[in-house]
Amino acid sequence: MNIALLLEMAADGAGERIALGPRSGGTSYRELLRLARNSGKWLASKPGPRAGLLDGNSAAVPLLLFGSALAGKAFVPVSYRLAADQLHAVLERLGHGVLVTAPDAALPVPLPEGLAVMAREQFLSEVRDGASDSPTGIPAPEDIAALLFTSGTTGAPKAAVLRHRQLAAYIIGTVEFLSAEPGDAALISVPPYHIAGISGILSSVYAGRRIVQLEAFEPRAWVRLVNDESVTHAMVVPTMLSRILDVLLADGERLPSLRHLSYGGGRMPSKTIETALRLLPHVDFVNAYGLTETSSTIAVLDPDDHRRFAAGDAASRRGLNSVGRPLPSVQIEIRGPDGKAVGPGVSGEVFVRGEQVAGEYLDGGRLNDGWFATRDAGYLDADGYLFLDGRLDDIIVRGGENLSPGEIEDVLVEHPAVCEAAVVGLPDPEWGEQVVAVVVPAAGATADAALLQRWVRERLRSSRTPSRVEFVPSLPYTETGKLLRRQIRDQIRRDQVVSPTAP
Ligand code: ATP
Repeated sequence: MNIALLLEMAADGAGERIALGPRSGGTSYRELLRLARNSGKWLASKPGPRAGLLDGNSAAVPLLLFGSALAGKAFVPVSYRLAADQLHAVLERLGHGVLVTAPDAALPVPLPEGLAVMAREQFLSEVRDGASDSPTGIPAPEDIAALLFTSGTTGAPKAAVLRHRQLAAYIIGTVEFLSAEPGDAALISVPPYHIAGISGILSSVYAGRRIVQLEAFEPRAWVRLVNDESVTHAMVVPTMLSRILDVLLADGERLPSLRHLSYGGGRMPSKTIETALRLLPHVDFVNAYGLTETSSTIAVLDPDDHRRFAAGDAASRRGLNSVGRPLPSVQIEIRGPDGKAVGPGVSGEVFVRGEQVAGEYLDGGRLNDGWFATRDAGYLDADGYLFLDGRLDDIIVRGGENLSPGEIEDVLVEHPAVCEAAVVGLPDPEWGEQVVAVVVPAAGATADAALLQRWVRERLRSSRTPSRVEFVPSLPYTETGKLLRRQIRDQIRRDQVVSPTAP
């Protein structure tokens, strides 16, 4: 299996359907296949084993993704948000090869040696004018389909290797979510260098949906595009959803065409998803948990779970904090510090195994007997629902007890005066680490640290009660929706000496 076959199957089965762009005047599946083949021919004539892209969401994304596959090259989408030195380092890893760039792309000077840069419009016109309609190469399942850089939330971005068989296994493994009706349209608004941007294109093509692209996310433009293009399916990260909800509330919009909204990439605050469920009762919500190294989603909280948990009491609503159950084609196991699997309700490291799990980097692999260590901490409940505690490195060890920042954040956010919360561990001479909460107050609410400390103490054990609570106007997130706890810790350390106090 390879990803190019997904496009060939779509062109065979629904060739006249619009694959990309507006309802009228968009590119059909048959035409997309022709363009992808031209792109493959064009790329095959260029040196190097990789094809890079420095762009937002544009037609160049699917054309380079499928073109690379047909040319036997790896597609390497690169973040346009990187600082000049980081970008230089990433482009150096691209090696000799071609790099297609957006018109306003800021390139590092000097460019790494051997990199041939081509402007996006020039690339698109070469591909449009190409004459080949014959199949090019056939990628082998073991060939590298994409090289994706992880988000760099916990350290320097890692170059994750994704092979054709792994990406294809993911798409086929999610087939139950992929039914499409002829009018269906999927909006791709997460950046193309994030795994969700790539898997979104692949699953839309497999389902035969029309792909609508938003070059770079902006909430009002997102809402407008959903309405104008009658978008039925979309994927967002939590920070995007909260900004979209602000626009919906301000403008009285309710997105009537939207049927399915999946979200993931970072922890979703329960208040945000509860508001979304209330405002958009006609939408099926899916929480999708996955990593770059696992070719995207490995567990989902499905629409029925959302409805059932939201309709219940406070205890039931905590189910909305879960990232759901493993996909049928994936196994998830929680392991303790001794490497042995632990039972329901016990926290440990999340391990995953399955055809879609790559766990491989440009400079080595991290699979052990097929199992990949996610570096996420969490537990499975008795019904098999996965709850994430945070990154393993973010677990707070206080007086020998392991505390989950996620659990404390969830309780803080339940308080009506709290909009968002981040919990971090800071050094403490007596306890090893102390719990510090950084809170964004709800609009119009008054900040009161003692009240929030009492709120947590009454709901969790006193060891989990923050020894101090700081109030801030906003929290730092990566643009792919991940809370930057490192930055919060550094900020608190820089701003003041945190006094060691035991709650
Ligand atoms: P780096 O490894 O460089 O620090 P990263 O792990 O943030 O980067 P990604 O592969 O984009 O890069 O992110 C995967 C991580 O995102 C997961 O390990 C998990 O911590 C988090 N995540 C993904 N989906 C969800 C979700 N639905 N809910 C909560 N967290 C999620």
